[in-house]
Amino acid sequence: TIGDELLIGQVLDTNFNWLAKQLAGLGINVVEKRTIRDTQEAIKLTLEETWKKTDLLIFTGGLGPTKDDVTKSAIADFFGVKLVRNQEVLEHVKAIFASINKPFLEVNAYQADLPANVIPLKNELGTAPGMLIQDGRFSLISMPGVPYEMEKIFEDNLHLINVNSDSNVFQRTILTSGIGESALMKIIEKKEKEIEDDRVNLSYLPSYGTARLRLTTYSGNKILNSRINEHVEDLIKLIGKFYVVDEDLSLEEYVYLSLKKNGFTLSVAESCTGGYLSSLITSIPGSSAVFRGGIVPYSNDIKINEVSVDESNVNDFGAVSQQVVEQLASGVREKFDSTYGIGISGIAGPGGGTKEKPVGTVWIAIAGKERVESKLFHFSKNRSVNIKRTAYAALNMLRIFADFS
Ligand code: AMP
Ligand code: MG
Repeated sequence: TIGDELLIGQVLDTNFNWLAKQLAGLGINVVEKRTIRDTQEAIKLTLEETWKKTDLLIFTGGLGPTKDDVTKSAIADFFGVKLVRNQEVLEHVKAIFASINKPFLEVNAYQADLPANVIPLKNELGTAPGMLIQDGRFSLISMPGVPYEMEKIFEDNLHLINVNSDSNVFQRTILTSGIGESALMKIIEKKEKEIEDDRVNLSYLPSYGTARLRLTTYSGNKILNSRINEHVEDLIKLIGKFYVVDEDLSLEEYVYLSLKKNGFTLSVAESCTGGYLSSLITSIPGSSAVFRGGIVPYSNDIKINEVSVDESNVNDFGAVSQQVVEQLASGVREKFDSTYGIGISGIAGPGGGTKEKPVGTVWIAIAGKERVESKLFHFSKNRSVNIKRTAYAALNMLRIFADFS
């Protein structure tokens, strides 16, 4: 990944992360990752050091029309070719400017100047094309840094990328929720030994309130692959109620798919998460099929007037209480006419804690037509961690509460 901004911490290198997942999925073994400066020297050095020892090098970044973008000229220099104006790319750049009613400036024509030995990869979403170079067994792909442009170029041109993929990779993933990493490790301890003895790689991928277990082998051995399937079945039994699904899904995706499959709907009244839970759910394409809506009843009078929480409950037990979240859950369920309602109230911090209710105290309730269930949590001192863990704990409670089939 190329860019000075990545090296001073201004921009997080999400391109690598995205590409790494794609490549792993394709069975391409990634052996090294570098982040380098926007200089000819750094780019050429990386080419020099890489092309002898790998089949594929991918660059992202440094393809803009401005002076600081030097990737193209470094590539041309390295291969000893000139930059040549590509008419097709030029037309595409002009068309993009026309479509947004912006004047086409001569500086933009530079986007169409490409090293003479590249195959341009069309950038549907922007002006800087991707580039593919095939030189013997070595392939170079260079794409712009803007993440959504890079992703689209990669996806659209996958068929052109002719590399030897390691089709021997066999992988299974288990999603767990509601159990900490160390507790999980404890309950699968024995099994983990067996998995190790089989020389299968087992990795833990914990996140806020969920953890993924991933079993991988690169052996290409069919017997070992079916052993992995057996291990997965055994793990699922051991993990019990903390087991969510044996697919590579996030908890919100799993909950969304389960609600949809059953024709259920959801609404939420989330105070201390401030809309984060709604945002998690609505990030999923198609979520309108299950998500009726959300409300952020931050102040007490909104809880009382908009979600029918009893004023006496707020006064007697406080806004962060079992009584209040249960009424939030059933109130929003009724108001928004959904199968399930979620109520959340807590102290995210860093201020607002008391001796009885320190920072990290959170009540969550789930309401269905017949019953309401609630639970008290004690998360951390950190506001952002508390918000995330609360949202995932709520999804996990819903998963257990709901009648998913
Ligand atoms: P560039 O193609 O280098 O002009 O990059 C354009 C923009 O894409 C930069 O301003 C960054 O915000 C973003 N960007 C570049 N490289 C990355 C990366 N590795 N991960 C995420 N964003 C990036
Ligand atoms: Mg850049």
